[in-house]
Amino acid sequence: MSALSGLLHPKMTGKGFVIDFSNKCIVVTGGNRGIGLAMSKAVAKAGAHVAIIYRSSADAPKVAHDIEKEFKVKAKAYQCDVSDADTVNKTFDTIDKELGPITGLIANAGVSVVKPALDLTTDDFNKVFTTNVLGVFNSARAAAKLWNERQHGGSIVIVSSMSSQIYNQVALSEPLTQVFYNSSKGAVSNLTKGLASEWAKHSIRVNALSPGYVNTDQTSGMDKKVRDFQANTVLLGRFAEPEEMTGQAILLLSDHASYMTGGEYFVDGGKLAT
Ligand code: NDP
Repeated sequence: MSALSGLLHPKMTGKGFVIDFSNKCIVVTGGNRGIGLAMSKAVAKAGAHVAIIYRSSADAPKVAHDIEKEFKVKAKAYQCDVSDADTVNKTFDTIDKELGPITGLIANAGVSVVKPALDLTTDDFNKVFTTNVLGVFNSARAAAKLWNERQHGGSIVIVSSMSSQIYNQVALSEPLTQVFYNSSKGAVSNLTKGLASEWAKHSIRVNALSPGYVNTDQTSGMDKKVRDFQANTVLLGRFAEPEEMTGQAILLLSDHASYMTGGEYFVDGGKLAT
């Protein structure tokens, strides 16, 4: 029997491609709305307990409660600013005790500042980079510390963006491209490769999932003309729904992806290079 057939058997027989996260515990940062909420529901549907990290949305505990009821798993919301390392470490320890042991992380929380480059400030830089880069690092390190303590591996999915590789025009009248956001995503995609290299020996896999345009609060304020322009730069001709990001994340978290680490996977509907 080849190594490959050994890996896939028996999960690929009979019922097809089955993912069962029973007794797993997945942390989703920014898991209370948008892409993160779709991720929280998807892992809960696969049977995992889910810890939702949020920054300030007052309805996050209710979101967790609804997931718990719908999917019959444990789900709880934890208020935590991912840019604060001490708070992140304490929150992961609490989650590990209350819902854990933690087995996977979706580092999804992210923010953007949309301004012409000439108007950007140091505060804008700090806002974007402390959440999108430092926040991802803090979350990944907190999970890795716990896994190293118990000498057990885990899987981390970092939500980056297609804008890690391309500029992403958000206005038609002028070349406005969210330079801090895009460069933070370039940084986080590179961070993914660095963490994957350092932690492979600890059986920790780290991959980036890079969405294209997704219908969430982050994109809801866009001018219709800009949306139409952007949708036309995608082979599928439309923005994605948050749920369309979950298949790749679930795969990367699962043992079906046991030979995948350090990669960046684009879920962008076929974004053309514009
Ligand atoms: P949303 O703006 O809808 O949600 C952002 C989430 O991140 C919220 O849950 C928010 O919590 C949380 N968050 C923000 N800052 C912090 C912080 N400092 N600490 C903890 N939580 C925080 O975002 P999307 O769903 O659109 O995006 C999710 C991820 O996907 C981001 O990383 C984004 O860059 C990326 N992405 C999105 C695309 C899109 O088209 N929407 C395209 C490509 C990538 P709270 O509700 O409490 O504020």
